[in-house]
Amino acid sequence: MTTTITLVQGDITHQSADAIVNAANSSLLGGGGVDGAIHRRGGPEILAECRALRASRYGRGLPTGQAVATTAGRLDARWVIHTVGPVHQGPGSDPEPLASCYRESLRVADELGARTVAFPAISTGVYRWPMDDAARIAVETVRNTPTAVDEVRFVLFDDRAYEAFARRLG
Ligand code: ADP
Repeated sequence: MTTTITLVQGDITHQSADAIVNAANSSLLGGGGVDGAIHRRGGPEILAECRALRASRYGRGLPTGQAVATTAGRLDARWVIHTVGPVHQGPGSDPEPLASCYRESLRVADELGARTVAFPAISTGVYRWPMDDAARIAVETVRNTPTAVDEVRFVLFDDRAYEAFARRLG
């Protein structure tokens, strides 16, 4: 089966998809950037499920590179998949934890039966991953991950992010 990769510039909380991926932090209790936007627009149901996950499975937080799903609340989606990107550590940062975010999110999407999945540019905000490198890792990983997802949509917030992903997609 082939997965189509599409690019959109805009706010991921306005997207319609089976699953919307959140660049969460390990607390799962919300934050700034895309995380804050998802909780604001999606409403309190998402946070309630995140709290329950903290209490049941992730007492020490969701580890970097892993992913877990909740309801999407009022978003136009069935699920939010929360994944924790790595903080960029400077030149030579190991790309593996960032690649793992994309792979694990797609694995969770497959488990759920999601056919369309929207991703933000994970780790490129407060976690400071350089945009070009993040785009390369995101596109390569999605291309190399076997999945039943029909459409992976990267939703890029600004021109700079959109152009970086467009260059990688060729
Ligand atoms: P991280 O902590 O993983 O770096 P951030 O949320 O700080 O996550 O940033 C990740 C990327 O998401 C950044 O490129 C940022 O510009 C972008 N972003 C912020 N808000 C939104 C949004 N509402 N929709 C899509 N992308 C967003």
